[in-house]
Amino acid sequence: MAKAEYWKAPEVEELAKKLMGIHHPYITGVNIVYVFSSKVRKRKQNIILASIDKYNERQKMISGGCQLVLEVAKEVWDKLDTNQREAVIDHELSHVLVDDESGEVSLIEHDVNEFGSIIKRYGPYLPSLQLFIADYSKYVDRQLDKPLDVQNHLQEG
Ligand SMILES: [Zn+2]
Repeated sequence: MAKAEYWKAPEVEELAKKLMGIHHPYITGVNIVYVFSSKVRKRKQNIILASIDKYNERQKMISGGCQLVLEVAKEVWDKLDTNQREAVIDHELSHVLVDDESGEVSLIEHDVNEFGSIIKRYGPYLPSLQLFIADYSKYVDRQLDKPLDVQNHLQEG
């Protein structure tokens, strides 16, 4: 298999900075490198669209203080629409946590890790799942508040 190639991703950086300003203002001071990768990675059966990883102390020193690297598979990125791109980058930024006191940067796991089939059989059986479903309901409500022509446009994709 050919080696993966990496290059800077200014369009990802631009989108990330926009989203930070809106949804993640507490991480604007974190030093993140944004890269495209030529390789589409897989974990189990799932394609990894993007990932965010921490630099170790040695990498931090060599790179001149970079703390995180946000990597996006270019091949997948090219197939995503604007809304999907925003969601993917917002998702990656949601992994980042900055400690109020120490300023230490860490990465957190997803709110929910569940199979669709289990939700289908048992419903949201844990508080974390109920919160997740409630968040989805809020999204649906917001869509229904929009004018009809916008709703139709959303359905068309
Ligand atoms: Zn994630």
